[in-house]
Amino acid sequence: MAALAMGIDLGGTNARAAVVDRDSGEIVAAHKEPHRERSPAVVAETVARAVRQSGRAAGMEPVAFGHVGVGVAGQCLGRTGVVLNAPNLGWRDVPFGELLERALGVRVRIANDLSTAAWGEQRFGAARGLDDVALVFVGSGVGSGLILGGRLHDGHRGVAGELGHVKVRPMRPDTAVRRCGCGEMGCLEAYTSGMNIAARVREELTAGATSVVRDLVQGDLDRVNATVLDTACARGDTYARALWEEVADLLGTAIAALVTLLNPARVILGGGVILGCPELQSRVREVFDARVSRSAAAGLSLERAFLGDDAGVIGAALLE
Ligand SMILES: [Zn+2]
Repeated sequence: MAALAMGIDLGGTNARAAVVDRDSGEIVAAHKEPHRERSPAVVAETVARAVRQSGRAAGMEPVAFGHVGVGVAGQCLGRTGVVLNAPNLGWRDVPFGELLERALGVRVRIANDLSTAAWGEQRFGAARGLDDVALVFVGSGVGSGLILGGRLHDGHRGVAGELGHVKVRPMRPDTAVRRCGCGEMGCLEAYTSGMNIAARVREELTAGATSVVRDLVQGDLDRVNATVLDTACARGDTYARALWEEVADLLGTAIAALVTLLNPARVILGGGVILGCPELQSRVREVFDARVSRSAAAGLSLERAFLGDDAGVIGAALLE
């Protein structure tokens, strides 16, 4: 009989629980539950319900899994189960591991969702069998997950891999620096995430910038997103091109720094902004090639994520 494990992906709007075959990475059963209320105790109950439902579909009670793994969209102290900061859930310093253990009656292991996605991709996806791998995600947020020496690397406190919160703008008081969702100033995410790009474009168009973007969204600035910018760029729009050069410069330089520092065998790219915007991606790759250290880049490949939205639950199920 296959060895089955339980993984959970906890995002800002729903929780997905999946029973995963440890040997093949195959998802045997899955269940998704929306959480309308974000109070930690209520979310723990919602997650527990999703776990029971998907377990039942595979003929197993939660206790039969021994423990469950959870990937959370936020900063987590893995060893204590505390979620330090999860902006999508509006949480700070929430002992979610403890709450979920109480709701389920089994041990709970928590990690950042990009760490679990990197772990899933390393075991069964785009970086199968490679010991040193970085997953770089550019979507609604920006971040990374690191596998070093064949192990998930979460650092001293469990918060390693926060590429999105690396500061990329000078601290000089005379420069306008954007504030990030994490509360700090000048983070990579504040300039390159889908949400932040859209917010900036709305501001600049409202202030009178000229761009074909305005026509593409038929004047409805709420419809501005990274894909629209990419289309504008492909059509030769000057505003979109300048913005993409800037975003690509920041992302390409940051990924080059990550590779220069850690020397992974592969970088996996995930997230709708980098995967869904070919104009942006080709510029990021150009900047990356120009700025990475030659010695670290030799033998390196940049690949698209393979498991998509499943990477997180698969990796979470494989947390020990
Ligand atoms: Zn930040």
